Amino acid sequence: MLETTRTYVARITNHSQVRDDLDQCGFAASKLWNVGRYYIQDRWDEDGEIPDEAELKSELKDHERYSDLHSQSSQRVLEELAEAFTGWYNSDDGNNPPGYRKRGDDHPRSTVTWKQKGIKHDDKHGQVRLSKGFNLKASRSDFILAEYETRPDVVVENIQQVRAVYNGDCWELHLVCKKAIPVEDAPGEKTAGIDLGISNYLAIDYEDGRSELYPGNTLKEDKHYFTREQYQTEGQNGPSKRAVRARRSLSRRKDHFLHTLSKHIVQRCVEAGVETIAVGDLSDIRDDDGESRNWGASGNKKLHGWEFNRFTNLLEYKAEEHGILVDRVDEENTSKTCSCCGQIRNSNRVERGLYVCSSCGTTMNADVNGAVNIRRKITQSLPTGDMSNGWLAQPGVFLFDRESGRFTPREHGDCKP
Ligand SMILES: [Zn+2]
Repeated sequence: MLETTRTYVARITNHSQVRDDLDQCGFAASKLWNVGRYYIQDRWDEDGEIPDEAELKSELKDHERYSDLHSQSSQRVLEELAEAFTGWYNSDDGNNPPGYRKRGDDHPRSTVTWKQKGIKHDDKHGQVRLSKGFNLKASRSDFILAEYETRPDVVVENIQQVRAVYNGDCWELHLVCKKAIPVEDAPGEKTAGIDLGISNYLAIDYEDGRSELYPGNTLKEDKHYFTREQYQTEGQNGPSKRAVRARRSLSRRKDHFLHTLSKHIVQRCVEAGVETIAVGDLSDIRDDDGESRNWGASGNKKLHGWEFNRFTNLLEYKAEEHGILVDRVDEENTSKTCSCCGQIRNSNRVERGLYVCSSCGTTMNADVNGAVNIRRKITQSLPTGDMSNGWLAQPGVFLFDRESGRFTPREHGDCKP
């Protein structure tokens, strides 16, 4: 058995009852963050040093704001602050150091983490009891009793941490559970590469030369539809009930799509005897004509990044249970390199999703080309197929069927390369 953790996102079903309490905790976490941030500034200005996590905890544990939250929750806020500074210090991208959490005179709702001493879990009734700090107990009750709901196939047990996260509309709970999963031997020794590619396509390339494409446009269409729906129903007092329902429905559909896709791909990898799946880590996102583009901190990276990152996490979980390792690899040059002859150039043409090599003349699906190159980051095998006709084998295309909620192969005939 392999001991691991899983994080389940849960909806709070008695939200109106616990909202004010969670708000208080979220504001308190921001205030404590600011206290710590101020302390760091002071030490920096005076001694030119950035205090570490241990110093922050010991120096601030008697501060009034420390007693707003359960002691373990307060510790976690200071740990996060120290981690943010370490991350900033170790990167040399010229960014500003972590800032204060303030919006004018207000505080944002920070994420609040409870560790084991602050949690009582009643799994029969789907409730968690979350402790408050001394200062906040006085005003209401000693604890917050939140009722939660997760995906039906999730078993919540051995909770290690509960995080209350404000998503802009409401609070949700992230339940971090310890889980023992049976470890299977890997189904084989082969490798596969995944490119989360251009215009929302996912391409996978197997070592035996087969490749498959999965259009993610179901997600895109959904998003477009729901965004319009939200816009049309947005009232003066914020989102209408209909808009909130639409948003929830979108997030459920997205969730279902990503779960189904990752499960399907792991199943295909089991059948193909795969031991390791290489996935590009998306430091480099391409636009629709296949050129490399650095989106920086903003832009589409966030829109796509979230889904891809979530997808990769889901893939990792599901692959792990079959003894398959998911390896995140650097995507550099994988879109610019010809997987047939190895030429790297900026000017390889990509037209309508096709990669055309100006050196060897090969034409192939651009996402599949990327997936082959990503796979090669972990296997050194060179292409052995006959490329003399200038065409690579066409990838199989799988479409998401909403009726059945499954991926089914698209019939040949209507398949454009
Ligand atoms: Zn070439």
